[in-house]
Amino acid sequence: MRVHNSLIDLVGDTPLVRLSTVTSGLAPSVFAKVEYFNPGGSVKDRIALRMVEAAEDEGLIKPGGTIVEPTSGNTGVGLAIVAREKGYRCVFVCPDKVGSDKISVLRAYGAEVVVCPTTVAPDHPDSYYSVSNRLAETIPGAWKPDQYANRNNPESHYNTTGPEIWEQTEGRVTHFVAGIGTGGTITGAGRYLREVSGGRVRIIGADAEGSVYSGGSGRPYLVEGVGEDIWPQTYDPSVCDEVIPVSDKESFLMTRRLAKEESLLVGGSCGLAVVAAQRVAATASSSDVIVVLLPDGGRGYLTKIFNDEWMADYGFLTTETEEATAGQVL
Ligand code: PMP
Repeated sequence: MRVHNSLIDLVGDTPLVRLSTVTSGLAPSVFAKVEYFNPGGSVKDRIALRMVEAAEDEGLIKPGGTIVEPTSGNTGVGLAIVAREKGYRCVFVCPDKVGSDKISVLRAYGAEVVVCPTTVAPDHPDSYYSVSNRLAETIPGAWKPDQYANRNNPESHYNTTGPEIWEQTEGRVTHFVAGIGTGGTITGAGRYLREVSGGRVRIIGADAEGSVYSGGSGRPYLVEGVGEDIWPQTYDPSVCDEVIPVSDKESFLMTRRLAKEESLLVGGSCGLAVVAAQRVAATASSSDVIVVLLPDGGRGYLTKIFNDEWMADYGFLTTETEEATAGQVL
């Protein structure tokens, strides 16, 4: 029978799909690595699986144990799926600015969610950092994956995402573009591709304009999952040949184009990565093969990026021409 015994067998091995309309007029081939094909709907299933299995191997989590992590998004979903398959309890801690839909998704997967006030300082006992640390210390058998410091985050991409891209392109990939959040994707997959190609593949990080990775101060941006105000241990800046900053407006307009023109209903960090890929493609040649990683699907963003009023309120939606040509390198 052609069956799978567990959903976690389906993590990884995501497809590469050619982008056509949003890259028209550009010489190279541009392929999207579409990570919403993972069972939890995002690239984060990869790190969740690897972090939990490494913790089991190292004896950090034992049968009946509890996973505690401050997360509201994709990492939570990945951990919840892996935890359920392996029989662990999950407690996630999120700030109260997180939308109720995201919390409902985590609870639907059987996770417990503790909501903390956003307005308090990180060192306040009620902040979500403090609460998650306290829970990890006080719940018996608790283990905190800590995706921003866990070396298994980049290693999961070194072992899976990178080799998949190399095999899928039969070694013809010349550029790899990915957004930088924890930095795990670009550090792990980028390092693998650089090593396997003898330094031939160029590694390009896409950053939220204002974030520290592209020289910003950490000033606020709305795109989710990418950009930071501190440098996490999971990001090795030496892996990137270049980091391209992309504004919220460009990211969101491109995200809408990906749904309308390429039938890819994806999240805002995907639009951001594709804008960076377009910039790279504008100066690359017709024999080049650019791979851009799209971290998640767009259903979690329907009330924001795909809502005209929300876009207009922030001044992101102006003229139709501007929307139709978003990201175009003129
Ligand atoms: N986009 C989204 C939607 C994400 O959840 C993440 C993970 N934080 C990223 C991009 C960036 O990936 P990484 O953490 O591996 O840098």
